[in-house]
Amino acid sequence: MKNEKNFVKQIVIFSIISLVSILLFNALLMPQLNKRSIKETNYSFFLNQLDEGNITQVKVEDSEIRFEVETDDGNKQVYSTGRMYDPELVDRLHSDKNINFTENFEENNLLLEFLISWVLPIIFFIVLWNVLMKGMTKKMGGNSMSFGKSNAKIYVKAQTGKTFEDVAGQDEAKEALVEIVDFLHNPNKYAEIGASLPKGALLVGPPGTGKTLLAQAVAGEANVPFFSISGSEFVEMFVGMGAAKVRDLFKQANEKAPCIVFIDEVDTIGKKRDGSLNGNDEREQTLNQLLTEMDGFDGKKGVVILAATNRPESLDPALLRPGRFDRRIPAELPDLAGREAILKVHAKKVKTEDNIDYNAIARATAGASGAELANIINEAALRAVRSGRKVVNQSDIEESVEVIIAGYQRKNAVISQKEKEIIAYHEIGHALVAAKQKDSAPVHKITIIPRTSGALGYTMQIDEGEKFLMTKDEALARIAVLTGGRSAEEIIFHSCTSGASNDIEQATKIARAMITRYGMSSKFDMIALETVANQYLGGDTSLACSAQTATQIDEEVNDIIKKSHEKAKKILTENIDKLHELAKFLLEKETITGEEFMGILNKKAVASL
Ligand code: ADP
Ligand code: ZN
Repeated sequence: MKNEKNFVKQIVIFSIISLVSILLFNALLMPQLNKRSIKETNYSFFLNQLDEGNITQVKVEDSEIRFEVETDDGNKQVYSTGRMYDPELVDRLHSDKNINFTENFEENNLLLEFLISWVLPIIFFIVLWNVLMKGMTKKMGGNSMSFGKSNAKIYVKAQTGKTFEDVAGQDEAKEALVEIVDFLHNPNKYAEIGASLPKGALLVGPPGTGKTLLAQAVAGEANVPFFSISGSEFVEMFVGMGAAKVRDLFKQANEKAPCIVFIDEVDTIGKKRDGSLNGNDEREQTLNQLLTEMDGFDGKKGVVILAATNRPESLDPALLRPGRFDRRIPAELPDLAGREAILKVHAKKVKTEDNIDYNAIARATAGASGAELANIINEAALRAVRSGRKVVNQSDIEESVEVIIAGYQRKNAVISQKEKEIIAYHEIGHALVAAKQKDSAPVHKITIIPRTSGALGYTMQIDEGEKFLMTKDEALARIAVLTGGRSAEEIIFHSCTSGASNDIEQATKIARAMITRYGMSSKFDMIALETVANQYLGGDTSLACSAQTATQIDEEVNDIIKKSHEKAKKILTENIDKLHELAKFLLEKETITGEEFMGILNKKAVASL
């Protein structure tokens, strides 16, 4: 508990500073303040006043005498004078029955004095301490003053209100969670037989696949309280605070059992501990506390801990061992059916036309997460409102898919006729190469309306069904399609533009993966030359081969792309009439559908027979 010690140290230091300040204030400032209302005078004045009987109170101190004089008009004034050797003073004071010369000179003022010199400064310092701490807390984004209180929010059923019906797709995950729901419903059934359910389950998957939603649904289905906290909330400014929060969270949870504790982004605290010198003390302590708490509580009581992460490979193995998060529940990106179901779930929340083809939308959104699909429906509703309609229609959803993929239309972007022409040929180049290869997905839409993502136009291809595998031929065909844009520019304008940068990037990515990960190269056998680091977060790769091999990989990537490029150019040269005709048509219309495209392509073909 090194860090609670730190905290206590801070308090002690602050208290000492406050105390010293108060003492100094009293020693130096207070007398000064008091003196302002006390007039210095000489001993003879004191004696004169005494003789005249004007004095009402006297206080004799070691070195000074203070006395209060009441003037004729009833005003009172306190004077002070130095003390002289005066043995008869007491007798003299005593002889005047009006004089009160007790020790308690100005009794009520003493109380005031005490208030001013002690209580006020203490209050002042307490307020100062609070203000300081609040400022610090804000800066650190944490809750440093809550000192060991976790801010786990308690959601009771009425608040989450989510059930498994709200989670579309994710059938495997739901199946795994049903048992937990049952356990929470009647823990006795399990206790009787002596079984204890897993204490924790880890929801693993890319961002936005509904992990939080699943946890909420479990709480909703089981009708139990739902504690939700993000892993990052445990990471505190002071070492030890996170651990205190964990302790507090589990205390709360135990009181409310049966219940669900949901820890989002658990990788922020559950990262592998390493022995490095600059290790994060706070995080390790928090993790240790979490491990201890998970071991400590009674599995039969009905506290189930669900945690979510999209970096399972970075979690500490201790967290994953039996008795802790030993169950792993995958929440993968939805497949075609899943996407369709998710779209429908969210479309229920908005007013839509009856004849919406969700399957078509689902096919156009391969690789989209649940969150993205939810966003697409919402975008569509916003678009409907913008166009003054009361219900969402198919085109709203289709347009919002494109918004999510490529950004908003830049309607007022000024593009010269020459450039428009180049873009049109570029896009038709892609589409034509796609249409003329048997391993390519059909063209769905071609547009040359610029988008806010920077795309000046694009060709959308949509597969008929869901694809889980990619053959070598398909990969090569895909690369050829990507090089088709540049190829058209080269054939028609005998030059190239920067417009192909994105195509180049994508083509290179596929070609590299073919060689380094899919074993589709002619030189290397089934060797993993690259490993994927974060499979759920972008899938960055790192090379795992010698520099010499890396050179060979580069050569082979170049070979693959070169061959595809040649192939694309060949296709386009053979179909140059159609290239011209389609480009002209696209230039005129700006957006054409796959049917229009195929119509022109086939009409010509029939006519030329
Ligand atoms: P994660 O925690 O996996 O990052 P969330 O659970 O926060 O993702 O999901 C964000 C939003 O996406 C949800 O609130 C929900 O609207 C939507 N969503 C994600 N997956 C699904 C799903 N399978 N069914 C319905 N909605 C989903
Ligand atoms: Zn292109």
